[in-house]
Amino acid sequence: MVGAIKNWARIALEILYPADCAVCKGAREPGSRSMLCEKCRKELRPLPGPFCERCSLPFDGAIGGNFKCSHCADKAFAFDRAVCACRLTGAARECIHRFKYDRAVWLGAELAELLIAAAQERIAWKKVDCVVPVPLFPARERERHFNQAEWFARRLVRALPATLSVGNLRRSRDTATQAFLNAAERMENVRGAFTARRPAEFMKRRVVVVDDVFTTGATTNECARMLRTAGAESVTVLTVSRG
Ligand SMILES: [Zn+2]
Ligand SMILES: [Zn+2]
Repeated sequence: MVGAIKNWARIALEILYPADCAVCKGAREPGSRSMLCEKCRKELRPLPGPFCERCSLPFDGAIGGNFKCSHCADKAFAFDRAVCACRLTGAARECIHRFKYDRAVWLGAELAELLIAAAQERIAWKKVDCVVPVPLFPARERERHFNQAEWFARRLVRALPATLSVGNLRRSRDTATQAFLNAAERMENVRGAFTARRPAEFMKRRVVVVDDVFTTGATTNECARMLRTAGAESVTVLTVSRG
């Protein structure tokens, strides 16, 4: 009897904690809390410096002090700055993709840890009034069954002294996929896609906008523009990764 229970317990543990890495199928460290092997886990590391103070674009090579990349120099972003937890490469890219499209929640948890660490280190939470996840168009959210940005935002407010705002900022127009568009086309594609149901609630608020990926910043910038129009005092963008 005891043997049978032990056997079931072992099988249950193997289902909950498979011996293989969830990304590359390599061997995981025995007893590790992570679903990833050591090699993949190393790829999920904080964004290495130096990076652009405005949009977090990493710069290859040594550079002293603060700098603004050429991407930001000719652009007037509506947000104050974007804080990104890691680069969208290797295991991080795979984890985000699987979390978003296959709903691999355990991989989302690994990414959330990284996001929370970046948020703790780089954002002054005493000066934040609310956290707003980038909304999906309702039909898109039904199709995907969840909004990945909202999932991360909910994790964030559990760990940090912040209030969540869901349902006020909404996506009032569906937009074409951004994957094949350049930066200018992306800006145009999302223009006017967001509205605030109760704009007065954003008046004089210091807002953090949360999303999973920052590529050209078109989507988060459009959210920030809407929040500014509603009277937000400041808008910081916070994303899991930087494309
Ligand atoms: Zn691995
Ligand atoms: Zn920049």
